Formats: sequence, structure tokens, C-alpha cells
Amino acid sequence: MTKATTSSLVGDLISRGLVGEVGMSAGQRLGRPATLVDIDGSSIAAIGVELNVGSMSMVVTDAAGRVLVDRRAAWGRRATTPTGVLAKVVSEIRSTLDALDPHIRQIAGVTVAVPGLVDADRGIVRVAPNFGWRDVPIIEILEKGLGSELHLLLDNEANLGALAEYRRGASTGVDDLVYVLAESGVGGGVVMDGKVFRGSSGYAGEIGHMTIKYDGIVCGCGSRGCWETVVGLAAVLRSAVPDLAEDLIVDGRLSPEEKIAVVTDRLERHDPVALAAMAEIGEWMGLGFANLADIFNPEVIVVAGVPASLAPWTLAIAHESMVTHAVAPNAGGCRLEVSSFGFSAGALGGALLAAERVVDDPLLVAAVS
Ligand SMILES: [Zn+2]
Repeated sequence: MTKATTSSLVGDLISRGLVGEVGMSAGQRLGRPATLVDIDGSSIAAIGVELNVGSMSMVVTDAAGRVLVDRRAAWGRRATTPTGVLAKVVSEIRSTLDALDPHIRQIAGVTVAVPGLVDADRGIVRVAPNFGWRDVPIIEILEKGLGSELHLLLDNEANLGALAEYRRGASTGVDDLVYVLAESGVGGGVVMDGKVFRGSSGYAGEIGHMTIKYDGIVCGCGSRGCWETVVGLAAVLRSAVPDLAEDLIVDGRLSPEEKIAVVTDRLERHDPVALAAMAEIGEWMGLGFANLADIFNPEVIVVAGVPASLAPWTLAIAHESMVTHAVAPNAGGCRLEVSSFGFSAGALGGALLAAERVVDDPLLVAAVS
């Protein structure tokens, strides 16, 4: 490109607020000093919404990925039907938009993250077992409430969690990673060669439903002995706090974080039942990680949610179990790491995905006259 073309393109990006001048270059021997530019994007926002049973997380970033809003709203079990839940989501998005800094002049998009099988292209949730949803046209319902000016996207929450880890987490830039999110269910997102791996129908990454105990208990998906039934929240509660487990499992007022806090509280007080349970949970985790290491040969497996909270008591056991069961020497060098984002990585990944639309096509942003 000629200097004139470069100047004209950069000038266009500046007029759209996507890059800004940040000073002059030093140390150049010939010609005029060059103007340095950097990504700006502070006037464009992107929204990620992560749906959980009875609550949602919302993250708003600007187009450069800086977090502007990070919050959570809970409504317990009062709304479980798609229309009931999505009405809450619409009102939360509306109040967030109203409260945004007036400096924000455009919304790049809104991504909704759902735990379950999604048809991202058609905007339909195929199966979300924890919600009891089947074939719900989420994007169509949200458009009715929000209008069609906002660009709405749908994706699986663990795919978006994996994207957040890859773009902003401790494993930023690790091209081959598996993200494991365990809350009520267990989901996974796989980044291979720097891209989220989706499979032929977009359903890849349902690692919580790999059968790991063929004569195990019945899973929420209808199968038996899925990994989720031995390392998910209910399994942890049943083995670590058996006296409280059944009440905690059905309690719709408490979030997964609050439920797992009951376990970590006992662990911190050296409760022998809880500690013994961790040895078994760690072993089951490691067995699943060994399968993942053998199939994907990731550099890192990032754990989020329940296994992140239990990491001090389970991760070393899980690593040993993974290395024992994987065929590759030392499980292919796979490391286990704890997510940097707690329980809302899906919402952050959603905002990053929506912001990417502007990176892919800067013409989506209007120039300021
Ligand atoms: Zn299952």
C-alpha cells in the first residue's frame, strides 16, 4: 500500500472512532516522524448475556474489549419458561442500555450465551436440559422485545467461555485449549488452532455427557453415567455434604457459587467427609481430563465454576489421575489451570464475540461527521 492509501484508511478508522492517534514515533532516522495509532473503540459497546437457571450475568465491553459493566441479576425459580426468562433479559438489557455512558454512540451487538445445544445460525436453542427447553427460537423472541436495531447473536456458554479464556484469560494466545465449565451441568469449549471448534452441526464440546460410568446414575440428558453425574454440582454436594445435599440441590434461591461455598466452608474446617469426597471427585475429574487430553492434545485445560472453587483440594489429584489414565506420556504435557473469570466467562466471551463484528467489518460503525 502507498503511504497515501494507508493514511486514508487510517483516517477513515479514526473518523469511525475505531483507532486513535497516540503520539509520534521516536528514533526514526529518515523523513518526518510517523504518527502512532492504537485501537480505540471506546465509543462502541458490545454486550454479552449469560443465562443460568434463575439468574443471568451481563458484561458490557467497548470495542477494544475493556469491561464497562459486569453484573448479575437473579430471580430464583419464579421464571423458567422461555418467555418468562427472556422478558427478564429484555428488561435487564434495556436498563443497562439506558444507564450507559452517553459517550457510547453505537452497540456492536448482543450475544446471548446459553448452556445447551444451540443452532447459532438460526438463533434457536435446540436442547437446554437444565432449563427444560427444546427448540426455543431465542433470537426471534428477544427481537420482539428489543426491536431489530440491536444485532443479536446466540452461542453456547462454554464456547464463549473458551473464547474469553483465549482472548483475555491467563491462557491468552494458547492456540489449543479446552475450557471445562461445571455448574449444575458440565459443558466444554474447545479452541483448536486458535479457533473455537464447533463440529459439523455446532454441537461439539458437550464433554459433560461423555459416558464415563456405564452403570452410573441417570443424567439430566436421559443417558446414564455421564461425566456430569460424577463431577457436577449435585455429585459434589452429595458426596461432600450428604446431610444438606438434597435440600441444596433443589434450592432455587441459592446460586451455584453459594451452594459450592457450603462445601468449601467445610473443607476449610477440615471436615473429614468433605475431604474424603475431594479425593474421589479429583479422581473422576482426572479421568475426564485424560479423555480430553487423548482426544484433543491441548496445551492447557482451563477449569471454571465448581472445579475452580474446589481446585485447592482436587487439582493435584486430578492431574495425577489424568497423567495415569492418558496414553500420551505425561498427558501430552497438558497443564490444568483455573479460570480467571469465575462464573461469568460466558458473558465476557459473548461481549467479545459481539465486538468482533466491528473488527471484521469496520463499516458497521458510522463515521462521525
Ligand atoms: Zn448426560
